[in-house]
Amino acid sequence: MLADRVKTIKPSPTLAVSAKANELKAKGIDIISFGAGEPDIDTPIFVKEACIKALEDGKTKYTPSSGIPALREAIANKLNKENNIDYSPSEIVVSTGAKMILFLIFMSILNEGDEVIVPSPYWVSYPEQIRLFGGVPVFAELKEENNFELTLDILKKYVSPKTKAIIINSPSNPTGAVISKEDLEKIVEFCIEKNIFIISDECYEHFVYDDAFMVSPASFSKDARKITFTVNAFSKTFSMTGWRVGYVACPIEYAKIIADLNSQSVSNVTSFAQWGALEALQNEKSKDFIENMKNTFAKRRKHLIDILNKYQIPYSKPKGAFYMFIDLTKYKNHFKDDIQMSSFILEKGRVALVPGSSFGKEFWARLSYCVSEDTLTEGVKRIYEALSSL
Ligand code: PMP
Ligand code: GLU
Repeated sequence: MLADRVKTIKPSPTLAVSAKANELKAKGIDIISFGAGEPDIDTPIFVKEACIKALEDGKTKYTPSSGIPALREAIANKLNKENNIDYSPSEIVVSTGAKMILFLIFMSILNEGDEVIVPSPYWVSYPEQIRLFGGVPVFAELKEENNFELTLDILKKYVSPKTKAIIINSPSNPTGAVISKEDLEKIVEFCIEKNIFIISDECYEHFVYDDAFMVSPASFSKDARKITFTVNAFSKTFSMTGWRVGYVACPIEYAKIIADLNSQSVSNVTSFAQWGALEALQNEKSKDFIENMKNTFAKRRKHLIDILNKYQIPYSKPKGAFYMFIDLTKYKNHFKDDIQMSSFILEKGRVALVPGSSFGKEFWARLSYCVSEDTLTEGVKRIYEALSSL
């Protein structure tokens, strides 16, 4: 008999959609995939070279469990310079991607029945991971009229004596919402007052458009820093999704526990991947790499907005990340659920997208714009034609 805790676990739907699209492509079927939540740009060459050099230099053994000292130091510098937060390297733990980091955080803080506020629409892994450790995800429903941005008034409706933590994911996957500095400051002040942990998932920090900008909750004050887990990864910023390098920065007493859990499970992130990550933080060319990637996404976002407008497909205008959350509720009467709808779009239109129910918003859908502008044009046309044939 398996453990009770795994009885309801589901595989990651975002990974499943990408896998399905790749499987069909491998069979020679002309599929357009809007599923993958990963940049289509290659990892910078200088990062690869640093990794190869590490291999050649024999850096192929166990490393300190929380990460090689030079990497933790470089992360501390980055957080200081870019995010305006002071952490010492001993307050940083490196593990296999932000996903594992979140897993270790939930494992560290949750007792049976503890509630975690998950602003909804949410990224797919938060509720699953929370439940695995006996926690209860409490979905704070965000409003489309408000661009799916979290405010203190919304948050307050979901707080109870059992609230242990809240997730802040700004810019957000899947909506691209970015919380304004003013709203975030109020939320942080409230969490300090109520002693609620903030888990700030900052994976998309560099991808913000127009006049939006991203702020780290821990940067507001010393008290904010005390209650915050600042989570980030190399996956999106440096297009290193397959490398599996992510980290958390938090007060030493929590970092120690996360480090111990990491040492009893992961041991360490692949040694040479860490040397690649270090180069990503230290090489001067990284700035241009990130800027170019951001500009590419900004152009695609604009292009995608134009095409969605042309076909009159409603959407929530994203301020960040590389996702567009579109509203397909007007077709809902044709389908049992939106999983059936996305299968229909895949079969009839040959377009893979992630159904909104995976993110807590049925009959919406997530398009990832990690594809060329021509592919965006063709893909949206196919979605429109498939649904118009109903
Ligand atoms: N948080 C969010 C919001 C994500 O979209 C993802 C997926 N990339 C992750 C965390 C996990 O990232 P990683 O690949 O570093 O594990
Ligand atoms: N985060 C990416 C996404 O949302 C990758 C998939 C995953 O980690 O589940 O598509």
